[in-house]
Amino acid sequence: MAKHDGFLLYERELPADRPPLERIGDWQEFHTLWDEQSHRRQAARCMDCGIPFCHSGILIKGAASGCPIQNLIPEWNDLIYRGLWKQAIDRLHKTNNFPEFTGRVCPAPCEGACTVGINQPQVTIKLNECAIIDRAWQEGWIKPNPPKHRSGKNVAVVGSGPSGLACADQLNRAGHQVTVYEREDRIGGLLMYGIPNMKLAKDIVKRRTDLMTAEGVKFITSTEIGRDLPVAKLKDNFDAVVLCAGAGKPRDLNVPGRQLTGIHFAMEFLKSSTKALLDHKSPIISAAGKDVIVIGGGDTGTDCVGSSIRQQCASITQIEIMPQPPTDRRSDNPWPQWPAVLKTDYGQQEAIALYGADPRVWQTTVKGFEGDLNGQVKAVYTVEVSWQRDDKGRMTPVEKPGSERVLPAQLVLLAMGFLGPEERLPLNLELSRDPRSNVAANDENYMTSTDGIFCAGDMRRGQSLVVWAINEGRRAARSCDRYLTGSSLLPG
Ligand SMILES: Cc1cc2nc3c(=O)[nH]c(=O)nc-3n(C[C@H](O)[C@H](O)[C@H](O)COP(=O)(O)OP(=O)(O)OC[C@H]3O[C@@H](n4cnc5c(N)ncnc54)[C@H](O)[C@@H]3O)c2cc1C
Ligand code: SF4
Repeated sequence: MAKHDGFLLYERELPADRPPLERIGDWQEFHTLWDEQSHRRQAARCMDCGIPFCHSGILIKGAASGCPIQNLIPEWNDLIYRGLWKQAIDRLHKTNNFPEFTGRVCPAPCEGACTVGINQPQVTIKLNECAIIDRAWQEGWIKPNPPKHRSGKNVAVVGSGPSGLACADQLNRAGHQVTVYEREDRIGGLLMYGIPNMKLAKDIVKRRTDLMTAEGVKFITSTEIGRDLPVAKLKDNFDAVVLCAGAGKPRDLNVPGRQLTGIHFAMEFLKSSTKALLDHKSPIISAAGKDVIVIGGGDTGTDCVGSSIRQQCASITQIEIMPQPPTDRRSDNPWPQWPAVLKTDYGQQEAIALYGADPRVWQTTVKGFEGDLNGQVKAVYTVEVSWQRDDKGRMTPVEKPGSERVLPAQLVLLAMGFLGPEERLPLNLELSRDPRSNVAANDENYMTSTDGIFCAGDMRRGQSLVVWAINEGRRAARSCDRYLTGSSLLPG
């Protein structure tokens, strides 16, 4: 184990992020690098628990507790502590194809479940993971490792987000020839065109997909299956198909004025922002000089806040219908559950530094939009709500009389979550759906209602996390491998 009394000797520490007022001047990652000794000291805080809750990966009350891909956390904490970084990356890659993504963007359900967290600040698991993989790339330990033998089987993966990439990586290792189809012009799904640069730099995504290309995975971009290439062709040309096309149907807000220009789904804005940066052009949707209202207090909303600030908006407000969470765990939300506590994320920190106030307004909803003579949005009508039980016992928002406000806005971004996969692909393939409209495919074999067609990631699970997408991609790959060859040595 790592140092037996490390958790008693050392405090939890993290390298300081770049100062908010400095980092909003560019689109570089806001995390900074640290020295080796500091990482080793943090790893020494791991107790190597007999039952390591950090890697349990179970759902409690619908939220992840522990690592969904069962990363061997105590093992690599020990290896970091002993300075055995090469062994640490080998151990980390056993369970995680892409630690450089999760090490940057995962909300770290492992840390919420860490035993040290019962009465002290938990082990810095996410930081340790990122340190291992960054070191491995830096040292040149990660090199193309194509499979020694090819199986002669062809698999198509539709969608190049983390589930599609994990699935393709695993199937390629098993020797199958994998072709990944992506409708966007760049590979990576939401890693590329959802999560902004300052959380995950795009050269980091490309570095990994270049490695996969060198290992034999074929990527075909700007090709939408079901539109540019009929699904029948896919079925005819491949021995199996894995659908990893995400859950991109956004939740809308059907209130008066919704049709006005200047009101966009968050993903339209975020994609336009990243694409403009990568193509060295101006964004199609710009926040520059505008009063921006983001509707939705989740992570997508936060990414809109951080991006709007970098585009030099005039002001930013983030509207959330739910009440502000507590700063500490409530008694009905004990360890090892995911801690439902207030998080002031990078976007809010930046708004506080720039404008002197948290941009979030809680327990507030939008009743309508007002436009100018050209049909351009100019104001948002809001009202506060209180949460009360209805006659069926369900918590329901009830408007507070007299709390109406009118907020100026020239750009409104709807970040209220997603309602499942887009319709075209499941309809074309006549696939069964689950009650939440996700593609139905069971947890055991990930096969859809059509033989030889599998499904993984947000398209099967609903909008989730990168780490769950990796888990799903790996498990679907194992099942697909078994389908193709009768058995599988792939882990999952
Ligand atoms: C703005 C935003 C920020 C997020 N931030 C985080 C975060 O910080 N941490 C975290 O863990 N999770 C985050 N998430 C969630 C996470 O990104 C997703 O859960 C994850 O990317 C799902 O992976 P996936 O592979 O299933 O789908 P996606 O990443 O959505 O990839 C699906 C891909 O399929 C492609 N596609 C769709 N239809 C077709 C077709 N017919 N033919 C070809 N290609 C097609 C799409 O273009 C897309 O590239 C965020 C989500 C959003 C929207
Ligand atoms: S739960 Fe925390 S202390 Fe225990 S093994 Fe995992 S990281 Fe180490």
